[in-house]
Amino acid sequence: MTLGLLGAAGRMGRRIIQLSAADPAFRIAFAVDRPGAAEIGQDAGTLAGAGPLGVRLATTAEVAADVVIDFSSPAASVALLPACAGRGAALVVGTTGFAPDQRRQVEALADQVPVLISANFSRAVYVLMRLVARAAALLGESADVEIVERHHRSKADAPSGTALRLAECVAASRGLDPDSYVHGRSGHTGARPRDQIGLHALRTADNPGEHTVVFGLTGECLELSHRALNRDGFVLGALDAAKQLANRPAGLYSMDDLVGPGGD
Ligand code: NAD
Repeated sequence: MTLGLLGAAGRMGRRIIQLSAADPAFRIAFAVDRPGAAEIGQDAGTLAGAGPLGVRLATTAEVAADVVIDFSSPAASVALLPACAGRGAALVVGTTGFAPDQRRQVEALADQVPVLISANFSRAVYVLMRLVARAAALLGESADVEIVERHHRSKADAPSGTALRLAECVAASRGLDPDSYVHGRSGHTGARPRDQIGLHALRTADNPGEHTVVFGLTGECLELSHRALNRDGFVLGALDAAKQLANRPAGLYSMDDLVGPGGD
């Protein structure tokens, strides 16, 4: 299977090059990063520490690929993905921080090709989301829900896409409005409304990502957490998504389609 990479010189892009180079199922067809990036023109494999692959880092996707994996920025995704879809590539999109209109533009490509957009490709985070939805339904109004996420200091968006997805899981289980989210707190806040979901973003050093959902009840507390030790869980999840998406018909897919419904 041939892969095209968007954001290839980034933290996720480099690890995708390393782990895909070690998997005989994959061959990298193109690797794209932003115009002006110092790495443009370098061999993508050498750049990632995987040894030369004969593919130079470019600023546009000029050849076809079976699947394009995108870990770049919302603006880059919107600018580059339509041409990739036009050449028939399935799209695995891990970029986060889309504005609603940008996300709609990417989703619209599902008319032409298979598209999977996920804020988190980790299998363990997928399980966390299922557990959080179940806990929120079981605890209902008896629990105040706060979500704490930690990421590295260079992360571009806050709160993380995963924290927002976790909040959506709670909101859907409890029938809450997304407007009930509050991002951090300061000043004279008054009492906490019962139907509010608090989101808190910490940014420290090189943290690859942690999420904790706190269910606070009177006299007790339940916390469900995931901690990434490095980026491999996200990368392996995206590569697995590429394998599964390649031969599917055009349409919008989710992690549910890949992992399966599982037992409740
Ligand atoms: P990063 O900043 O290290 O990498 C992003 C890369 O995209 C950079 O090399 C940058 O130069 C490149 N880029 C920016 N503009 C571009 C353009 N116009 N054209 C081509 N390339 C461009 O960030 P990262 O940590 O690798 O994360 C990338 C994205 O993936 C972020 O949105 C992050 O939140 C998300 N992410 C998602 C998951 C997941 O599982 N879905 C996991 C980790 C990170």
